Amino acid sequence: MYFDLLWQSFRDYAWYLGAELLHPHWGNYVYWLLGLSLAVYLLELVLPWRTDQARIRQDFWLDGFYLFFNFFLFSLIGFYAISNVAVHAFQDVLALVGVQNLVAIEIKTWPVWAQLLTLFVLRDFIHWNVHRLLHRVPWLWEFHKVHHSVHQMGFAAHMRFHWMENVVYRTLEYVPLAMIGFGLQDFFLVHIVALSIGHLNHANVRLPLGPLKYVFNNPQMHIWHHAKRLPQPYGANFGISLSLWDYLFKTAYVPQDGRDIELGFEESEAFPRKWHQQMLHGIWPPAPERSLPEKDPGPSPSFGQELR
Ligand SMILES: [Zn+2]
Ligand SMILES: [Zn+2]
Repeated sequence: MYFDLLWQSFRDYAWYLGAELLHPHWGNYVYWLLGLSLAVYLLELVLPWRTDQARIRQDFWLDGFYLFFNFFLFSLIGFYAISNVAVHAFQDVLALVGVQNLVAIEIKTWPVWAQLLTLFVLRDFIHWNVHRLLHRVPWLWEFHKVHHSVHQMGFAAHMRFHWMENVVYRTLEYVPLAMIGFGLQDFFLVHIVALSIGHLNHANVRLPLGPLKYVFNNPQMHIWHHAKRLPQPYGANFGISLSLWDYLFKTAYVPQDGRDIELGFEESEAFPRKWHQQMLHGIWPPAPERSLPEKDPGPSPSFGQELR
C-alpha cells in the first residue's frame, strides 16, 4: 500500500510539474522562481553593493543549478513521494497509539490574511530554531557547510544547500505546523514571500530598511551570518525571513558594514566545489571531527550589540 502511494505521488508530482511548465498562470511556482530570480539579478546589475564583483560571479552557474534542483528536481526525484508516505505512516502510528487528531489549535475560522500571517511567522520561527541546530549539531553542520561554502555572495546562493536540509526542515516543521488546524491547503503566498526575502538576503545589493531591519532580515545582516570570523563559534544572525528572532534572543550581530568581509568557514577553501561532491558531503566519506570556526582576532564587540 505504501508502495502504491509512493508511485502515485511520484506520478502526480511529475504531472504537476509538466502542467506547470506548459500553462503559465499567476499561481505558477516555476515562473515565479524565474521572474523573481531575474528581477533580483537585474537589481544586482543596476545597483551593485560590491561594485568590483563580477556580474557572473564565482559559482554563478553552480548556484543557478541549485536553484532548480532544490526548488523542483529534488521534489521530482522523490522527496514529495517519500514525505507523502512518511506522513501516512506517521498518521497510522498515531492512530495505533490512539491519537486521532494532532490539531491543538483550530484557526481555520480566522480570516485568510490572519491564517497566512500566522503561518508565515510561526514557520519562520521554527526555521530559525532549525537553522541554529544546523550550526550546533556536528553531523547537521556538515550538511549546512554546503550553504556556507559560498565565497562570493549573490542572489542564487540562497538556494545552495544540501538536499538533506530539505529533509531536516520538512521533518522538524511537520508536527508543530500540523498541530495548528489551518483551513488553507495552498500556502503559495507564504512561499513566494519567503523566496523573495531569501533571494534579497543573499543578493549583492544594499537594502537599508531603517527601523524595519529589527523585523526583517536583509543583505547587510545576512552577510554576517556567512562571515568567516565571528566572535563566537556557532555563528550569529540565524533569521531566515525575519531578523526579529535574532534581536529577541540576542543572536544578532552587525558590528560594521560587512560589504567586503571574508566569507566561508575555516578551511572552506578546501571544501568540494563540484555539485555531486557537495551532495554527497556529510554522507560519504564519513565526516571527520568538527573543528570550531576561528575566533575573531581583533577587539570584538559584545554579542548582540549593533553599531550600525
Ligand atoms: Zn547558516
Ligand atoms: Zn545564507
